[in-house]
Amino acid sequence: FLSLGIPVALIFTGIVGWILGSFAMRPARRSYEQLQRFTADASHELRAPISAILSNAQVGLLAPAEDEQQPRQRLSNIVTQSKSISALIANLLFLARHEGQLNPKDVAKTNIEELLSSLGSEYKTLAVEKGLEFHLLVPAKPLEIHSDPDLFKQAIRNLLDNAIKYTSPEGRVDLELVVKPRRILITVKDTGIGIPAADLPHIFERFYRVDKARTRQTGGFGLGLAIAQQIIQAHDGKITVESEFGKGTMFQICLPLRP
Ligand code: ADP
Repeated sequence: FLSLGIPVALIFTGIVGWILGSFAMRPARRSYEQLQRFTADASHELRAPISAILSNAQVGLLAPAEDEQQPRQRLSNIVTQSKSISALIANLLFLARHEGQLNPKDVAKTNIEELLSSLGSEYKTLAVEKGLEFHLLVPAKPLEIHSDPDLFKQAIRNLLDNAIKYTSPEGRVDLELVVKPRRILITVKDTGIGIPAADLPHIFERFYRVDKARTRQTGGFGLGLAIAQQIIQAHDGKITVESEFGKGTMFQICLPLRP
């Protein structure tokens, strides 16, 4: 166990150093204070799962097991915490790699109606499993936009994941596309817990969570919306939010249509 803990900590420290280093390479675009805060937040988020891994490993090594199940339980805790670190690192890498721009090689003509319909049928299954209604309101007419389809899907996924996560059974989630002459509007709407007015201006900030204790339990790091916003801005679009605490939330993506 102990031989596992120390290299694990060293590897994570190395990876985080590399990620933070790549952020530090862009000093002109990111103020020193922002970078410092980001570093502190990322380290803070990593500290809890790393401590949990180390303590499970050390206790497993030093204290005799009370029963047959205990060693398995400790290993299972280590797996859960390692998965959490791995998800956090994947998100940090994503933010570092795709900062603000699309790779022209990955941009292609994308049928947005098809993209949303396929996401819709995938998320309908997840919503129904949780006892939610799911409505896909997309015109049955192909419409092509220029996008990086994988990134674009990731942005919508982050919004849909939240809509499902923050809505209790018997609630409703809608995914809608409206085509205007010069732009398209994609809306993800839910009848969930809503966001307090005081938190709304901050929710796109990295690591911002409305209720840190609760969202940590549900596995959130407060990076999903920052990632969604970064992707939509890289497509020259805008993402906005409206919410009423206790009633529901609506995220809207507005994307210009180019001839
Ligand atoms: P997380 O991974 O913690 O969900 P996000 O960046 O995706 O991080 O969201 C930031 C915070 O915004 C969340 O912690 C949550 O409090 C709030 N939030 C996001 N989407 C919704 C939603 N649809 N309904 C209620 N709260 C939401």
